[in-house]
Amino acid sequence: MTTIAVLGAGYAGMRAVKRLVHEKVDARIVLVNNNPYHYESTQLHEIAAGTKEPSDITFDIRDAVSDKVEVVIDTVERIDRESKQVVLKESQPLAYDYLVNALGFESETFGIPGAEENSLSFSNIDSALAVREHMEKTLANYATSHDENDLHIVVCGAGFTGIELLGELAWRVPQLAKQYSLPEDLIRITCVEASPKILAMLPDNLSKWAVDYLTSKGVEIHNGIMITEVRPGVVVTADQEFHANTIIWTTGVRGSHVICDSGYEQKRNRVIVEDDLSVKGHPDEYLVGDVSAVPDAQSGRLYPTTAQISIAQADVVAANIAARLAGREPHKFTFKSLGTVCSLGPHAGVAELNMMGHWKLKGHKVSMVKRLVNDRSVLELAHVKEMLESN
Ligand code: NAD
Repeated sequence: MTTIAVLGAGYAGMRAVKRLVHEKVDARIVLVNNNPYHYESTQLHEIAAGTKEPSDITFDIRDAVSDKVEVVIDTVERIDRESKQVVLKESQPLAYDYLVNALGFESETFGIPGAEENSLSFSNIDSALAVREHMEKTLANYATSHDENDLHIVVCGAGFTGIELLGELAWRVPQLAKQYSLPEDLIRITCVEASPKILAMLPDNLSKWAVDYLTSKGVEIHNGIMITEVRPGVVVTADQEFHANTIIWTTGVRGSHVICDSGYEQKRNRVIVEDDLSVKGHPDEYLVGDVSAVPDAQSGRLYPTTAQISIAQADVVAANIAARLAGREPHKFTFKSLGTVCSLGPHAGVAELNMMGHWKLKGHKVSMVKRLVNDRSVLELAHVKEMLESN
C-alpha cells in the first residue's frame, strides 16, 4: 500500500493529515512527531513570559487526528532521500512513497559570538518554559543578591516574536514584582533591534502605535543598533553594552536542522520549492511551513513564514498528493495573506487585515481578533469529532 509520511505535528503537519483524510486518499498516512502533543507556536511567547500555561496552548495529537492516521512518537534524525526512508532515533526507518516534511523552525543566531551560549531562545514548549523559569528565578534572586542586573531583562530583536514577547513581559513583570516584593522602579525591560524601524511590515501609524504603547508600559526600545556579541550577562553593540541577567534571543528563525542533515540544497535550512510545493528533482517530496521557501509568483520574493501560509501550503500539498494518486494534474500554490495580527500583551495589539475590506486596527479590539485567530486555528487543525470524543 502507498505510504504518505508526514513529519511534524505543527500547523502544517496537522493540517496536512486532516486534509489527506478529507481527500479520502487510498494510502497509509503516518504522522511522525517528537512528542505526543501539538503546540500553538504562535503563542510560545506567552509561555516564555508566564502569562499562559503549556496546557492552554497544547493538545494531544492522538485525540485530534482521525483514527485513519497512524501516529509515531519519535525524533526524525534525517531523511535518506535515495532509499526514500525517514531515519528515526528510536524506531526502525520509515519507508515512504510520498513525504510531507513539516518539521518547522529553530532559533537563528546568525553566528553572533556568544549568542547561543549566553542567551535564551524559545522554539518549543520546553525552551519557552526554560525562559520563564530563568527569568522568575533571576528576578526573585534580587532579594538576596541586590544585584540590579537581576532585575534587568534584555530582549534581542524586535521582529514579531520580540515585540509580542515584550508586550507579555510588560504585563507580567509588574505582577512578578508584587509576588516577590521587588522594587518596581528598578526593574527594566529593554529591547535592542538592528533595524531603524520597528515592525516595518506594518503601516507606519500601527508600528508607531505599538512602539508608543510599549514605551508607555516602561519598555526601553533601542533600534538601529546591531548586536555584535553576547557575553555572560552582557549584550554588546558597536558602542553600547546592555547588562542584564536575563537575555532573551529573538532575532529570527531558520528551518529544522534535519534539512541540512539530509543533504538538501538550502539556505538557513529552507528549501526553495516548485510551484506545486514539491522539491526540484524529487516530485514525491513536499516541503511545507518553515522548512520551505516559497517565491511569490509575481514579485519573485519569498513569502515570510507564518502559521497562515503553512496551513495554506498543507491544503495544496494534500490536494496534490490526492491528485497524483488519482492520476490528475497537481495544483499550483498561490497565496493571499488575510493579514497580520501582533499582540502587545493580553489586552492590546495592532493588526492589518484583508478580510471583508482592508482594516488597520489597534488597541483592545485586536486582542479579541487574536483570540478568534487562535481558536480558529484549532478548528483548522483538529478533527472536531475526535476532539469532542476525547476526555
Ligand atoms: P524576524 O526575522 O521577523 O525578526 C527578527 C528581528 O531581529 C528583526 O527585526 C531583525 O532586524 C532583528 N535582528 C536580527 N539580527 C540582529 C542583531 N544582530 N542585532 C539586533 N537585532 C537583530 O523573526 P521572528 O520575530 O522570530 O519571526 C519569525 C517569523 O515568524 C517571521 O516571518 C514572522 O513574521 C513570523 N511571526 C509572526 C507572528 C505574527 O504574525 N504575529 C508572530 C511571531 C512570528
